[in-house]
Amino acid sequence: MERLVVNSSLQSYTIYMEEKSRFKIPKLLKKEYSSILIITDTNVAKLYSNDIVSSFPHDKVYVVVVDAGEQTKSLDTFYYLHTKAIEYGLDRESLIIALGGGVIGDLAGFVAATFMRGIDYVQMPTTILAHDSSVGGKVAINHEKGKNLIGSFYPPILVLYDTDTLKTLPAREVRSGFAEIIKEAMLADSDLFDRLMSVSLEGLTLEALNLFIYSGLQIKIKLVEADEKETGNRKFLNLGHTLGHALEAKLGYGVLTHGEAVAIGLLFMIYVSERELGASLPTETLIKWFKKNGYINPLTLDMVDELVEIILHDKKTVNQKIQMILLRNLAGPIIQPLEAKKLKSYLQGFIV
Ligand code: NAD
Ligand code: ZN
Repeated sequence: MERLVVNSSLQSYTIYMEEKSRFKIPKLLKKEYSSILIITDTNVAKLYSNDIVSSFPHDKVYVVVVDAGEQTKSLDTFYYLHTKAIEYGLDRESLIIALGGGVIGDLAGFVAATFMRGIDYVQMPTTILAHDSSVGGKVAINHEKGKNLIGSFYPPILVLYDTDTLKTLPAREVRSGFAEIIKEAMLADSDLFDRLMSVSLEGLTLEALNLFIYSGLQIKIKLVEADEKETGNRKFLNLGHTLGHALEAKLGYGVLTHGEAVAIGLLFMIYVSERELGASLPTETLIKWFKKNGYINPLTLDMVDELVEIILHDKKTVNQKIQMILLRNLAGPIIQPLEAKKLKSYLQGFIV
Protein backbone atom coordinates (compact mmCIF):
# COMPACT_ATOMS: atom_id res chain seq x y z
CA MET A 1 0.00 0.00 0.00
CA GLU A 2 1.26 3.47 -0.87
CA ARG A 3 0.50 6.05 1.73
CA LEU A 4 0.76 9.81 1.30
CA VAL A 5 -0.23 12.53 3.75
CA VAL A 6 -1.69 15.89 2.79
CA ASN A 7 -1.13 18.58 5.39
CA SER A 8 -3.94 21.07 5.40
CA SER A 9 -4.73 23.85 7.83
CA LEU A 10 -8.36 22.77 7.74
CA GLN A 11 -7.69 19.07 8.16
CA SER A 12 -4.75 16.81 7.34
CA TYR A 13 -5.61 13.56 5.64
CA THR A 14 -4.10 10.41 4.25
CA ILE A 15 -4.19 9.08 0.72
CA TYR A 16 -4.15 5.28 0.64
CA MET A 17 -3.39 3.84 -2.73
CA GLU A 18 -3.90 0.12 -2.87
CA GLU A 19 -5.53 -2.36 -5.18
CA LYS A 20 -8.76 -3.85 -3.77
CA SER A 21 -8.77 -1.47 -0.81
CA ARG A 22 -12.47 -0.88 -1.48
CA PHE A 23 -13.18 -4.04 0.50
CA LYS A 24 -11.72 -2.73 3.74
CA ILE A 25 -12.93 0.82 4.23
CA PRO A 26 -14.25 0.44 7.81
CA LYS A 27 -10.74 -0.57 8.97
CA LEU A 28 -9.33 2.68 7.60
CA LEU A 29 -11.84 4.95 9.31
CA LYS A 30 -10.80 6.40 12.65
CA LYS A 31 -14.29 6.34 14.16
CA GLU A 32 -17.73 4.78 13.84
CA TYR A 33 -20.31 6.77 11.94
CA SER A 34 -24.03 6.78 12.66
CA SER A 35 -24.81 6.18 8.99
CA ILE A 36 -23.06 6.16 5.64
CA LEU A 37 -24.25 7.68 2.38
CA ILE A 38 -22.44 6.48 -0.73
CA ILE A 39 -22.85 8.89 -3.62
CA THR A 40 -21.97 7.45 -6.99
CA ASP A 41 -22.97 7.54 -10.65
CA THR A 42 -24.79 5.04 -12.86
CA ASN A 43 -21.62 3.54 -14.39
CA VAL A 44 -19.67 3.17 -11.18
CA ALA A 45 -22.67 1.95 -9.16
CA LYS A 46 -23.03 -1.11 -11.40
CA LEU A 47 -19.41 -2.02 -10.94
CA TYR A 48 -18.44 -1.18 -7.38
CA SER A 49 -21.15 0.06 -5.03
CA ASN A 50 -22.03 -3.44 -3.72
CA ASP A 51 -18.41 -4.02 -2.74
CA ILE A 52 -18.44 -0.91 -0.58
CA VAL A 53 -21.84 -1.60 0.97
CA SER A 54 -20.89 -5.14 1.92
CA SER A 55 -17.61 -4.00 3.48
CA PHE A 56 -19.60 -2.35 6.31
CA PRO A 57 -20.89 -4.56 9.11
CA HIS A 58 -24.01 -2.52 9.87
CA ASP A 59 -27.03 -1.79 7.71
CA LYS A 60 -27.20 2.01 7.88
CA VAL A 61 -25.40 2.25 4.58
CA TYR A 62 -27.30 3.94 1.76
CA VAL A 63 -26.45 4.39 -1.88
CA VAL A 64 -27.66 7.25 -4.07
CA VAL A 65 -26.95 6.93 -7.76
CA VAL A 66 -26.91 10.00 -9.99
CA ASP A 67 -26.49 10.29 -13.76
CA ALA A 68 -22.95 9.91 -15.05
CA GLY A 69 -21.35 12.95 -16.66
CA GLU A 70 -20.47 16.59 -16.11
CA GLN A 71 -24.13 17.74 -16.36
CA THR A 72 -24.68 16.09 -13.01
CA LYS A 73 -22.51 18.70 -11.22
CA SER A 74 -25.61 20.88 -11.08
CA LEU A 75 -27.66 22.72 -8.49
CA ASP A 76 -30.57 20.34 -9.17
CA THR A 77 -28.55 17.21 -8.36
CA PHE A 78 -26.96 18.95 -5.39
CA TYR A 79 -30.45 19.69 -3.99
CA TYR A 80 -31.64 16.16 -4.78
CA LEU A 81 -28.72 14.72 -2.81
CA HIS A 82 -29.52 16.92 0.18
CA THR A 83 -33.11 15.69 0.01
CA LYS A 84 -31.90 12.09 0.01
CA ALA A 85 -29.56 12.78 2.93
CA ILE A 86 -32.47 14.20 4.93
CA GLU A 87 -34.80 11.34 3.96
CA TYR A 88 -32.25 8.73 5.04
CA GLY A 89 -31.91 10.52 8.38
CA LEU A 90 -28.25 11.49 8.07
CA ASP A 91 -26.99 13.53 11.00
CA ARG A 92 -23.79 15.32 11.96
CA GLU A 93 -22.14 11.98 12.81
CA SER A 94 -22.82 10.54 9.37
CA LEU A 95 -20.26 9.99 6.64
CA ILE A 96 -20.50 10.57 2.92
CA ILE A 97 -18.45 8.44 0.55
CA ALA A 98 -17.80 9.95 -2.89
CA LEU A 99 -17.37 6.89 -5.09
CA GLY A 100 -16.47 7.80 -8.65
CA GLY A 101 -14.57 10.21 -10.84
CA GLY A 102 -14.03 13.92 -10.41
CA VAL A 103 -17.67 14.73 -11.06
CA ILE A 104 -18.80 12.67 -8.10
CA GLY A 105 -15.88 13.85 -5.96
CA ASP A 106 -16.66 17.52 -6.57
CA LEU A 107 -20.41 17.10 -6.19
CA ALA A 108 -20.50 14.74 -3.18
CA GLY A 109 -17.73 16.78 -1.54
CA PHE A 110 -19.80 19.92 -1.87
CA VAL A 111 -22.85 18.13 -0.44
CA ALA A 112 -20.68 17.03 2.51
CA ALA A 113 -19.39 20.58 2.92
CA THR A 114 -22.90 21.99 3.16
CA PHE A 115 -25.07 19.28 4.73
CA MET A 116 -25.75 20.48 8.29
CA ARG A 117 -22.86 22.91 7.79
CA GLY A 118 -20.42 20.16 6.99
CA ILE A 119 -20.00 16.45 7.72
CA ASP A 120 -17.07 14.08 7.13
CA TYR A 121 -16.52 12.57 3.73
CA VAL A 122 -14.18 10.14 2.03
CA GLN A 123 -12.95 10.52 -1.52
CA MET A 124 -12.86 7.21 -3.39
CA PRO A 125 -11.55 8.13 -6.83
CA THR A 126 -12.23 5.58 -9.57
CA THR A 127 -10.75 7.45 -12.53
CA ILE A 128 -7.18 8.44 -13.33
CA LEU A 129 -8.25 12.04 -13.56
CA ALA A 130 -9.66 11.93 -10.04
CA HIS A 131 -6.15 11.55 -8.57
CA ASP A 132 -6.15 15.29 -9.17
CA SER A 133 -9.69 16.16 -8.10
CA SER A 134 -9.78 14.04 -4.93
CA VAL A 135 -6.80 15.85 -3.39
CA GLY A 136 -6.70 19.48 -2.37
CA GLY A 137 -10.19 19.98 -0.96
CA LYS A 138 -11.74 21.90 -3.84
CA VAL A 139 -15.39 20.91 -4.15
CA ALA A 140 -17.92 22.50 -6.45
CA ILE A 141 -20.86 22.37 -8.79
CA ASN A 142 -21.24 24.22 -12.08
CA HIS A 143 -23.34 27.28 -12.89
CA GLU A 144 -24.68 27.46 -16.42
CA LYS A 145 -22.40 30.49 -16.88
CA GLY A 146 -19.27 28.62 -15.97
CA LYS A 147 -17.62 25.62 -14.42
CA ASN A 148 -17.12 25.19 -10.67
CA LEU A 149 -18.50 28.65 -9.90
CA ILE A 150 -20.38 27.44 -6.81
CA GLY A 151 -18.17 25.67 -4.33
CA SER A 152 -15.82 25.72 -1.41
CA PHE A 153 -12.59 24.38 0.05
CA TYR A 154 -13.48 21.33 2.11
CA PRO A 155 -10.90 18.55 2.49
CA PRO A 156 -11.95 14.91 2.91
CA ILE A 157 -11.02 12.91 6.02
CA LEU A 158 -9.45 10.26 3.79
CA VAL A 159 -8.71 9.52 0.16
CA LEU A 160 -8.96 5.84 -0.67
CA TYR A 161 -7.65 5.08 -4.12
CA ASP A 162 -8.37 1.52 -5.13
CA THR A 163 -6.44 1.47 -8.40
CA ASP A 164 -7.94 -1.93 -9.23
CA THR A 165 -11.06 0.01 -10.27
CA LEU A 166 -9.09 1.68 -13.07
CA LYS A 167 -9.11 -1.62 -14.99
CA THR A 168 -12.69 -0.94 -16.11
CA LEU A 169 -12.05 2.61 -17.35
CA PRO A 170 -12.94 3.20 -21.01
CA ALA A 171 -9.99 4.22 -23.23
CA ARG A 172 -11.33 7.74 -23.55
CA GLU A 173 -11.26 8.23 -19.78
CA VAL A 174 -7.69 6.92 -19.67
CA ARG A 175 -6.75 9.63 -22.19
CA SER A 176 -8.61 12.19 -20.13
CA GLY A 177 -6.76 11.34 -16.93
CA PHE A 178 -3.40 11.35 -18.63
CA ALA A 179 -3.87 14.92 -19.74
CA GLU A 180 -3.84 16.00 -16.06
CA ILE A 181 -0.71 13.95 -15.34
CA ILE A 182 0.97 15.57 -18.35
CA LYS A 183 -0.08 18.94 -16.97
CA GLU A 184 1.51 18.13 -13.61
CA ALA A 185 4.69 16.93 -15.29
CA MET A 186 4.94 20.10 -17.39
CA LEU A 187 4.53 22.18 -14.25
CA ALA A 188 7.04 20.52 -12.03
CA ASP A 189 8.86 17.45 -13.32
CA SER A 190 10.53 17.31 -16.72
CA ASP A 191 11.75 13.71 -16.13
CA LEU A 192 8.18 12.62 -15.60
CA PHE A 193 7.25 14.44 -18.79
CA ASP A 194 9.92 12.49 -20.73
CA ARG A 195 8.73 9.20 -19.24
CA LEU A 196 5.14 10.01 -20.21
CA MET A 197 6.12 10.86 -23.76
CA SER A 198 7.89 7.51 -24.08
CA VAL A 199 4.81 5.35 -23.40
CA SER A 200 1.76 4.49 -25.41
CA LEU A 201 -1.58 4.40 -23.62
CA GLU A 202 -2.59 1.20 -25.35
CA GLY A 203 -1.29 -1.76 -23.43
CA LEU A 204 -0.04 0.29 -20.49
CA THR A 205 0.28 -1.95 -17.42
CA LEU A 206 -1.48 -1.14 -14.17
CA GLU A 207 1.92 -1.08 -12.52
CA ALA A 208 3.18 1.65 -14.86
CA LEU A 209 -0.08 3.54 -14.47
CA ASN A 210 0.22 3.42 -10.66
CA LEU A 211 3.68 4.96 -10.86
CA PHE A 212 2.48 7.81 -13.06
CA ILE A 213 -0.46 8.50 -10.78
CA TYR A 214 1.80 8.42 -7.74
CA SER A 215 4.15 10.98 -9.32
CA GLY A 216 1.19 13.17 -10.25
CA LEU A 217 -0.15 12.99 -6.71
CA GLN A 218 3.18 14.10 -5.27
CA ILE A 219 3.22 17.19 -7.48
CA LYS A 220 -0.38 18.04 -6.66
CA ILE A 221 0.19 17.60 -2.90
CA LYS A 222 3.24 19.84 -2.91
CA LEU A 223 1.37 22.65 -4.63
CA VAL A 224 -1.79 22.49 -2.52
CA GLU A 225 0.10 22.23 0.74
CA ALA A 226 2.05 25.37 -0.05
CA ASP A 227 -1.05 27.32 -1.05
CA GLU A 228 -4.27 25.77 0.14
CA LYS A 229 -6.66 28.54 -0.80
CA GLU A 230 -5.12 29.22 -4.20
CA THR A 231 -3.89 32.72 -3.59
CA GLY A 232 -0.50 32.02 -5.17
CA ASN A 233 1.28 29.06 -6.73
CA ARG A 234 -1.63 26.64 -6.54
CA LYS A 235 -2.94 28.57 -9.51
CA PHE A 236 -0.26 26.83 -11.56
CA LEU A 237 -2.47 23.74 -11.48
CA ASN A 238 -4.75 25.62 -13.85
CA LEU A 239 -2.18 25.16 -16.60
CA GLY A 240 -4.11 24.41 -19.79
CA HIS A 241 -7.43 25.13 -18.10
CA THR A 242 -8.06 28.67 -19.39
CA LEU A 243 -9.02 27.36 -22.79
CA GLY A 244 -9.87 23.89 -21.46
CA HIS A 245 -12.73 25.07 -19.23
CA ALA A 246 -14.02 27.47 -21.88
CA LEU A 247 -14.09 24.70 -24.46
CA GLU A 248 -16.07 22.44 -22.15
CA ALA A 249 -18.58 25.22 -21.52
CA LYS A 250 -18.81 26.20 -25.20
CA LEU A 251 -19.28 22.71 -26.60
CA GLY A 252 -21.64 21.66 -23.83
CA TYR A 253 -20.52 19.43 -21.00
CA GLY A 254 -19.95 15.88 -22.15
CA VAL A 255 -18.86 16.54 -25.74
CA LEU A 256 -15.22 16.57 -24.74
CA THR A 257 -14.00 14.91 -21.55
CA HIS A 258 -12.36 17.28 -19.08
CA GLY A 259 -8.92 15.91 -19.93
CA GLU A 260 -9.47 16.12 -23.69
CA ALA A 261 -10.31 19.79 -23.24
CA VAL A 262 -7.24 20.28 -21.03
CA ALA A 263 -5.04 18.60 -23.66
CA ILE A 264 -6.10 21.21 -26.22
CA GLY A 265 -5.64 23.88 -23.55
CA LEU A 266 -2.07 22.68 -22.95
CA LEU A 267 -1.23 23.00 -26.64
CA PHE A 268 -2.67 26.50 -26.66
CA MET A 269 -0.72 27.38 -23.51
CA ILE A 270 2.47 26.28 -25.30
CA TYR A 271 1.56 28.36 -28.36
CA VAL A 272 1.12 31.46 -26.19
CA SER A 273 4.24 30.75 -24.05
CA GLU A 274 6.37 30.56 -27.17
CA ARG A 275 5.09 33.88 -28.49
CA GLU A 276 4.68 35.79 -25.24
CA LEU A 277 7.82 34.60 -23.46
CA GLY A 278 9.99 33.21 -26.23
CA ALA A 279 9.83 29.86 -24.45
CA SER A 280 11.31 26.81 -26.06
CA LEU A 281 9.10 23.82 -25.30
CA PRO A 282 8.75 20.24 -26.60
CA THR A 283 5.80 21.21 -28.77
CA GLU A 284 6.25 18.68 -31.55
CA THR A 285 6.75 15.81 -29.11
CA LEU A 286 3.52 16.62 -27.34
CA ILE A 287 1.48 17.10 -30.52
CA LYS A 288 2.77 13.77 -31.83
CA TRP A 289 1.98 12.03 -28.55
CA PHE A 290 -1.58 13.39 -28.47
CA LYS A 291 -2.15 12.30 -32.07
CA LYS A 292 -0.67 8.85 -31.54
CA ASN A 293 -2.89 8.29 -28.53
CA GLY A 294 -6.14 9.36 -30.16
CA TYR A 295 -6.81 12.82 -28.65
CA ILE A 296 -9.25 14.93 -30.67
CA ASN A 297 -9.36 18.67 -31.41
CA PRO A 298 -12.71 20.09 -32.53
CA LEU A 299 -11.60 23.78 -32.35
CA THR A 300 -12.71 25.96 -35.27
CA LEU A 301 -12.26 29.66 -35.99
CA ASP A 302 -15.95 30.48 -35.59
CA MET A 303 -15.71 29.55 -31.90
CA VAL A 304 -13.19 32.25 -31.01
CA ASP A 305 -15.50 35.12 -29.98
CA GLU A 306 -17.60 32.98 -27.73
CA LEU A 307 -14.57 31.30 -26.16
CA VAL A 308 -13.04 34.68 -25.30
CA GLU A 309 -16.36 35.75 -23.80
CA ILE A 310 -16.51 32.64 -21.62
CA ILE A 311 -12.88 33.08 -20.53
CA LEU A 312 -13.63 36.66 -19.46
CA HIS A 313 -16.28 35.35 -17.06
CA ASP A 314 -13.97 32.75 -15.62
CA LYS A 315 -12.72 32.81 -12.02
CA LYS A 316 -9.23 33.34 -13.40
CA THR A 317 -10.01 36.76 -14.86
CA VAL A 318 -9.05 39.79 -12.76
CA ASN A 319 -9.78 43.39 -13.87
CA GLN A 320 -10.61 42.21 -17.38
CA LYS A 321 -7.16 40.63 -17.66
CA ILE A 322 -6.95 36.91 -18.09
CA GLN A 323 -4.50 35.41 -15.64
CA MET A 324 -3.05 32.76 -17.88
CA ILE A 325 -0.54 30.21 -16.64
CA LEU A 326 2.36 29.98 -19.06
CA LEU A 327 5.69 28.15 -19.11
CA ARG A 328 9.06 29.86 -19.44
CA ASN A 329 10.43 26.35 -19.84
CA LEU A 330 9.40 22.85 -18.75
CA ALA A 331 8.75 22.96 -14.99
CA GLY A 332 8.99 26.75 -15.05
CA PRO A 333 5.43 28.13 -14.74
CA ILE A 334 4.46 31.78 -14.35
CA ILE A 335 1.20 33.69 -14.19
CA GLN A 336 0.88 36.09 -17.11
CA PRO A 337 -1.93 38.67 -17.32
CA LEU A 338 -3.27 38.89 -20.89
CA GLU A 339 -5.73 41.33 -22.38
CA ALA A 340 -8.76 39.88 -24.10
CA LYS A 341 -7.72 41.34 -27.44
CA LYS A 342 -4.38 39.61 -27.30
CA LEU A 343 -5.91 36.34 -26.21
CA LYS A 344 -8.28 36.53 -29.14
CA SER A 345 -5.52 37.01 -31.67
CA TYR A 346 -3.49 34.16 -30.13
CA LEU A 347 -6.54 31.92 -30.34
CA GLN A 348 -7.05 32.80 -34.00
CA GLY A 349 -3.40 32.12 -34.75
CA PHE A 350 -3.49 28.83 -32.83
CA ILE A 351 -6.52 27.51 -34.67
CA VAL A 352 -5.36 28.42 -38.17
P1 NAD B 1 -16.27 11.67 -14.36
O1 NAD B 1 -16.43 11.65 -12.91
O2 NAD B 1 -17.40 12.11 -15.20
O3 NAD B 1 -15.83 10.21 -14.84
C1 NAD B 1 -15.66 9.95 -16.20
C2 NAD B 1 -16.53 8.79 -16.69
O4 NAD B 1 -15.97 7.56 -16.27
C3 NAD B 1 -17.96 8.80 -16.18
O5 NAD B 1 -18.81 8.38 -17.21
C4 NAD B 1 -17.94 7.75 -15.08
O6 NAD B 1 -19.20 7.17 -14.88
C5 NAD B 1 -16.95 6.77 -15.61
N1 NAD B 1 -16.23 5.99 -14.60
C6 NAD B 1 -15.70 6.47 -13.45
N2 NAD B 1 -14.96 5.52 -12.87
C7 NAD B 1 -15.06 4.40 -13.63
C8 NAD B 1 -14.50 3.10 -13.56
N3 NAD B 1 -13.67 2.76 -12.58
N4 NAD B 1 -14.82 2.22 -14.53
C9 NAD B 1 -15.62 2.59 -15.57
N5 NAD B 1 -16.15 3.80 -15.71
C10 NAD B 1 -15.86 4.71 -14.76
O7 NAD B 1 -15.03 12.58 -14.80
P2 NAD B 1 -13.51 12.72 -14.34
O8 NAD B 1 -12.77 12.86 -15.59
O9 NAD B 1 -13.09 11.69 -13.37
O10 NAD B 1 -13.53 14.12 -13.55
C11 NAD B 1 -13.80 15.32 -14.20
C12 NAD B 1 -14.27 16.33 -13.20
O11 NAD B 1 -13.27 16.56 -12.23
C13 NAD B 1 -14.60 17.68 -13.82
O12 NAD B 1 -15.86 18.09 -13.37
C14 NAD B 1 -13.51 18.59 -13.28
O13 NAD B 1 -13.95 19.91 -13.13
C15 NAD B 1 -13.22 17.95 -11.96
N6 NAD B 1 -11.90 18.28 -11.41
C16 NAD B 1 -11.85 18.79 -10.17
C17 NAD B 1 -10.64 19.08 -9.59
C18 NAD B 1 -10.57 19.58 -8.17
O14 NAD B 1 -9.51 20.00 -7.74
N7 NAD B 1 -11.65 19.54 -7.44
C19 NAD B 1 -9.46 18.87 -10.31
C20 NAD B 1 -9.53 18.36 -11.60
C21 NAD B 1 -10.77 18.05 -12.14
ZN1 ZN C 1 -8.46 19.75 -14.53
